[in-house]
Amino acid sequence: MAKRDYYEILGLGRDAGADEIKKAYRRLAMKHHPDRNADNPESEEKFKEAKEAYEVLSDGDKRAAYDRFGHAGVDGQAAGGGAHGAGGFGDIFGDIFGDIFGGNGGARRRGPSRGADLRYTLEIDLERAVKGSNEKIRVPTWIHCDSCEGSGAADGEKPVTCPTCGGAGQVRMQQGFFTVQQACPTCRGSGTIIKNPCKKCGGQGRVQKTKTLSVNIPAGVDTGDRIRLAGEGEAGPQGMPPGDLYVQISVLEHEIFQRDGNDLYCELPVSFIDAALGGELEVPTIDGKVKLKVPPETQTGKLFRLRGKGVTSVRGGPPGDLMCRIVLETPVGLSNEQKELLRKFQQSLDDGGTRHNPRSTSWFEGVRRFFDGL
Ligand SMILES: [Zn+2]
Ligand SMILES: [Zn+2]
Repeated sequence: MAKRDYYEILGLGRDAGADEIKKAYRRLAMKHHPDRNADNPESEEKFKEAKEAYEVLSDGDKRAAYDRFGHAGVDGQAAGGGAHGAGGFGDIFGDIFGDIFGGNGGARRRGPSRGADLRYTLEIDLERAVKGSNEKIRVPTWIHCDSCEGSGAADGEKPVTCPTCGGAGQVRMQQGFFTVQQACPTCRGSGTIIKNPCKKCGGQGRVQKTKTLSVNIPAGVDTGDRIRLAGEGEAGPQGMPPGDLYVQISVLEHEIFQRDGNDLYCELPVSFIDAALGGELEVPTIDGKVKLKVPPETQTGKLFRLRGKGVTSVRGGPPGDLMCRIVLETPVGLSNEQKELLRKFQQSLDDGGTRHNPRSTSWFEGVRRFFDGL
């Protein structure tokens, strides 16, 4: 679920001044304050949303970062909001979880003497991402040549010092008035040459192969997280150290749940009879079914929060919540008898005046005021 724009949340234009921001936030905070809206998860969400938007937009630096980079520029900074998605985790990660991080932190820069780093995008379903799993992946890569043990030289010979550069790997060239240094053309910078190249690898010290690896996915990962497998990248040429393999997590869409940070959202279809009379519903969670009591006169769109039934982030902290949105279901395939019952029921509602339809009553009043105002 996409995060809403902070300006949109506060109902402001992007050029709003500090005073306007404060005013808009105050108005929303008063309206949705938890003290005034006990047991109303919708209000609670709106309150949190407004608080987060205000914390970012009222801070000059954060607002500038948000204006330039959107949510990615400020995620994890606003105290009121959870950290969502990728971006901005680089340093938090180093401490907690040496080998996994989200965001754009790139691989270390390294010389040409190492094997290249590899990136593998792993698509996993939501359950596995939430609970953790072990995944087998197949990666086309270069591996160490066992015939020459990586040296690239045949018959146990050792590479010899390059005669052109004397082992320095670099040569000086005269260009006009200048002397420039460049990589030795004979040994391509390695400082050694191979007289009899290994037949299996042609002197490279490595061969191409598709490797099968088993990767432990820690519980709570999300799209954008990366897992580094040190030394599992391409083998280096001529016995040089290997690069690393970065497994990039991409979580697939789920049939029932949508994930937003640590919270999960789902829709809960309810018959209008259950919604009117109240009752106990079975709700799916990632760990199985739980019961949810729905009070009488529940309206469509109402959100119920199941605390702690969301996701525990790979970065730790308390689990998120499961938010269930009530969707009233219109009955289909009615028999003539059932239709007749409904007509009688409708008649009995009409006899009761407008008090049975809180929403359309206020809607019609709104329409009347709108036309009166024209
Ligand atoms: Zn070889
Ligand atoms: Zn050389």
